[in-house]
Amino acid sequence: MPHKPDTPNPPPADVDPAMLTIVHYPADVLRRKAANIDADPAAIAPIVAAGEKMIQLMRDAPGIGLAAPQVGLSWRLFVADVPADDERNLDTDSAIQTATDGPEIYINPVLSRPQGDREFMEEGCLSLPGVFGDVARPPTITMAYTDRNGDRITRKATGLLARCWQHEADHLDGVLILDRMTKPDRLRIRTKLEKLENAAIK
Ligand SMILES: [Zn+2]
Repeated sequence: MPHKPDTPNPPPADVDPAMLTIVHYPADVLRRKAANIDADPAAIAPIVAAGEKMIQLMRDAPGIGLAAPQVGLSWRLFVADVPADDERNLDTDSAIQTATDGPEIYINPVLSRPQGDREFMEEGCLSLPGVFGDVARPPTITMAYTDRNGDRITRKATGLLARCWQHEADHLDGVLILDRMTKPDRLRIRTKLEKLENAAIK
């Protein structure tokens, strides 16, 4: 863990990407609302460096998305690498993007314009090992973000990409899949959560 939950959020220039590791529930940082970061061209290099390390951690895990609070940084930033041929994308017949174009870094992302009736899909989380449950989300979403070059971009996604964006954006508000699961799923995973809580106390 790169910094204690009660210490102030470190500025990007003070973060050593090599020290970043994935933190697990119930780490406090996962429940905090993350802060926007200065994505000015002059300030963006250390942010991108942390993002690159997060991409590596996400791939090693392996996962398709990872948010900064999951590596102990209370920043509004997440990364994703959603393959077009993921089986969860195969039934999507849409002109809207369902996958990333390789690994992507999203800085200060803002979601808007959810479209369509909410759909259930099973989700997991790299900060909740072994925990899976159905989560309902709108199938299509728009996101504005700053990319690794410092450009502000607005894009629309559906399928697994829209699912991933919403899951990761939740992390920036301290929201976990536990909070969005159905009651039966929450009961089913209770023992797994207790195990994670006990592992943190040890
Ligand atoms: Zn997650």
